Amino acid sequence: MAAVNAEFVAEIVDTVMARLTSQGLVSGSAHHEGTDGVFDGVDAAIAATTAAQKIWAETSKEAKGRVIAALRALMHDHAADFSRRALEETGMGRFEDKVVKHHNSADATPGLEDLVPSAWSGDKGLVVEDYAPYGVLAAITPSTHPVEVLFNSMVIMIAPGNGVVFNVHPSAKHVSAYALGLFNETIRKHGGPPYLVTMLREPTLESADRLFKHPGIRMIAATGGPGLVKAAFGAGKKVIAAGPGNPPVLVDETASLQDAARHIIDGASFDNNILCIAEKEVFVVAPVYDRFMQAMADQGAVRLVQQQVEMLASKVFLPNDKGGVTVCREFVGKNARVLAKAVGLNISDDVRLLYGEADFDCQFVQEEQMMPYMPVVRVRDVDEGIAMAVKAEHNYGHTAMIHSNNLQTITRFTRAVDTDIVVVNGSSLAGNGGVGGEGYFSHTIASPTGEGICTPRNFARVRRLATFKSLNIA
Ligand code: NAD
Repeated sequence: MAAVNAEFVAEIVDTVMARLTSQGLVSGSAHHEGTDGVFDGVDAAIAATTAAQKIWAETSKEAKGRVIAALRALMHDHAADFSRRALEETGMGRFEDKVVKHHNSADATPGLEDLVPSAWSGDKGLVVEDYAPYGVLAAITPSTHPVEVLFNSMVIMIAPGNGVVFNVHPSAKHVSAYALGLFNETIRKHGGPPYLVTMLREPTLESADRLFKHPGIRMIAATGGPGLVKAAFGAGKKVIAAGPGNPPVLVDETASLQDAARHIIDGASFDNNILCIAEKEVFVVAPVYDRFMQAMADQGAVRLVQQQVEMLASKVFLPNDKGGVTVCREFVGKNARVLAKAVGLNISDDVRLLYGEADFDCQFVQEEQMMPYMPVVRVRDVDEGIAMAVKAEHNYGHTAMIHSNNLQTITRFTRAVDTDIVVVNGSSLAGNGGVGGEGYFSHTIASPTGEGICTPRNFARVRRLATFKSLNIA
């Protein structure tokens, strides 16, 4: 089908919705609900996206390509606008880094080019495998990069022909609704069907659960912390889960210490450490520990003394009723200046990272704290460093970094941490393509389910067409 007439599709959606509503099957209206594609009810959102997806699945690849190109252009145009709104609503991160993140998501998210069919030809016939849509997917976004994930998830999911209903993070629902409205408008303007991507106006844990369990949802993409991942698996459907990380860094005696310090500061301070791939704790072998701590200062990080680290920990980690600790949101994603102020230190907003000496058991090492403070642990040797890095990663299987020029150590570390991403002699940003490194990029790094950095292929069904002793064209 060539470009689809948007008004014609809107009319179909309205007719279907009117019928479902009169039969008492859905609640909430489908059309013109304020922001484009934002629905009050789970049933209404799924019904609208289901109607749109049927049309989208039949839309030509050329038209799909046009829609995706227009969405990329929109992301670029609104990079500063989305960044400002996200910062205002969530209070996390740095404006200038967010702008980079939005441009990166626009440019580096893979699209239709990822869906390359495979073919086999032999005496028994010809086999072709291609990528077909699942239907309508449910997707959950985190508060840490609301619009970047919304965009990235939308593109990698609609590229193979799916529609998506989002349950966005409640702390970012306004900026998400604003961006989703613009996305829908762009899809329609460029010939795509209305409501191909929708979201719930008041996203809650209950609405996520209803969405997961709804018979109209074929598959779940869950990007967020441990609670969410657990809930998604409970729905008994195919899940692509992008869970938490606690990325360790190992620095050995063969590393270039100034480079290691610079890369660690770059990665750990980017958007104030709210990326799941960001460096969260560093292990340094004893012979170069003191020189590494000096290199961090040389590269512009500010060192806290033991008493200040303890004071900061007492404010950041609040005891919870499960006998553990909860990370205080007041500090998550805040500038280093805010953390420093809490321990009586006045520094400028130009300082990107604080650091200090830490024991392995320190909460800054064990918790995914997502703020610009870096605990640095002294280890006896590489063996102890690898063992501690493995433990601190908590089997998330997410991301790890090593600074070393010893190939055997790099190999041993990589095999031991067993993560989706290992970065060697670079910042964590090098591990996820786009502006920071080579290769494709995604905000969905699916460690619990093993897809790693997700692309459209992960949201497509593989369909095989096989001939038997025919169509052997060569
Ligand atoms: P979060 O877990 O607080 O929220 C994520 C989303 O899940 C929200 O929409 C929330 O409402 C929902 N949710 C949470 N618990 C739920 C439950 N029990 N049932 C249903 N829905 C539930 O996470 P956050 O603070 O927004 O994001 C940060 C977390 O996400 C970090 O742990 C980070 O590492 C992770 N993250 C991972 C990736 C990745 O690609 N692996 C990407 C971004 C963020």
